[in-house]
Amino acid sequence: MDFRLTPEQEQFRDSVRRFAGRHLAPNARERAHAPGYPWDVARLMAQQGLLGITVAQADGGQGGSLMDAVIAIEEVAAACPRSADVVQAGNFGPIRVLAEYGSALHKKKFLDRLLKGEAVISVGMTEPDAGSAVTDLSTAATREGDGYRINGAKVFTTHSAYADLVLTYVRFGPGVGGIGSVLIETGAAGVTRGKACAFMSGEEWAELRFDRVYVPAEMVLLGEGGFKKQIAGFNVERIGNTARSLALGRYAYERARQWALQRKQFGRLLCEFQGLQWKFAEMKMKLDAGQLLLYRAAANADRGFPSAEETAIAKAFCNQAGFDVASEALQVMGGLGYSQEELVEYCMRRCRGWMIAGGSIEILKNRIAEAIFERSFSQRDRAPS
Ligand SMILES: Cc1cc2nc3c(=O)[nH]c(=O)nc-3n(C[C@H](O)[C@H](O)[C@H](O)COP(=O)(O)OP(=O)(O)OC[C@H]3O[C@@H](n4cnc5c(N)ncnc54)[C@H](O)[C@@H]3O)c2cc1C
Repeated sequence: MDFRLTPEQEQFRDSVRRFAGRHLAPNARERAHAPGYPWDVARLMAQQGLLGITVAQADGGQGGSLMDAVIAIEEVAAACPRSADVVQAGNFGPIRVLAEYGSALHKKKFLDRLLKGEAVISVGMTEPDAGSAVTDLSTAATREGDGYRINGAKVFTTHSAYADLVLTYVRFGPGVGGIGSVLIETGAAGVTRGKACAFMSGEEWAELRFDRVYVPAEMVLLGEGGFKKQIAGFNVERIGNTARSLALGRYAYERARQWALQRKQFGRLLCEFQGLQWKFAEMKMKLDAGQLLLYRAAANADRGFPSAEETAIAKAFCNQAGFDVASEALQVMGGLGYSQEELVEYCMRRCRGWMIAGGSIEILKNRIAEAIFERSFSQRDRAPS
């Protein structure tokens, strides 16, 4: 077993590091607090070949591996935490599902603009009454002529305030088997956005409402029975979420480490106090352990899709580790860490959200328990006997 990156991976890492250091690090703080999507970064990354890293070359991507994409997101986050979201959107999110299952028409119509950094795609799964229990979703696709009428609403959708396209989970029929997905352009008749909302991280979202939205049959991504395939693709999104949790925790840790080497109190450097040394030892252990779990899931990915179990373990661990480390780093930096003069507080707020988004830590632990006991445990209320 070899824990080192290959020479090609090291070369790729170094090139992304140079790019991120030169183009993204200088405005990292302003970018983190700016509203909207960083389109300038998206276009820069497209030119640099950092969007569509794992998308086949025939489809306009780079034909790389999931590990390559993980390396890219880590290096970008180390220079500019907010820009890591662009790597996510261009590689790990619904774009990956579109590239995997989309038809030639879908790719021609949408993929090109997404890979050029000119558009962004959201995934709409969560609904007001279907969060963790996502298979309870009720957004309906009803057959009409050559297409479908879509009625329903999605909440908490990342990029929903400005996305051009939504990979929308819909119900064609009853049960899990009745779930599939359609591609809905946000400019289509019947799509409206509710009031502008914001997460604790500052990210904007708006409820997406679909009122008799007509979707031609060719805009169905996965029809009835598509749920399992969609979730297999969603595990890639979870890996991006995992990698960002760890990378933002590491960003905060690195800032705190530098601070502890220069800040003096009681006439001594902070790094000389054992109480803080042990905090750093704990942070480092969590980051290293998380990195091994993340790399295992990414390196073992089969045709680019990681296993559900390894992804769940990596995500649950790294979501917690990223948040804990960022929070401890903030503590070490005192008032400065709590201030927006530094990005440590931003990293902590972002990491907090990933403990909920993309499968909360509790839901992932349920999944891990199923793998441990090799059986499924229904979370549903049983009818009284
Ligand atoms: C930053 C952020 C970005 C997001 N982006 C998107 C997106 O792009 N697209 C999208 O569709 N959704 C998105 N979401 C929504 C996210 O997927 C949901 O918030 C999540 O699935 C939880 O659903 P809920 O908020 O309705 O909480 P609920 O499902 O109501 O859960 C509430 C609490 O109960 C726990 N819980 C629920 N069921 C169980 C159980 N069986 N066992 C143990 N604990 C349980 C949960 O873990 C949670 O802590 C995002 C959320 C956040 C915070």
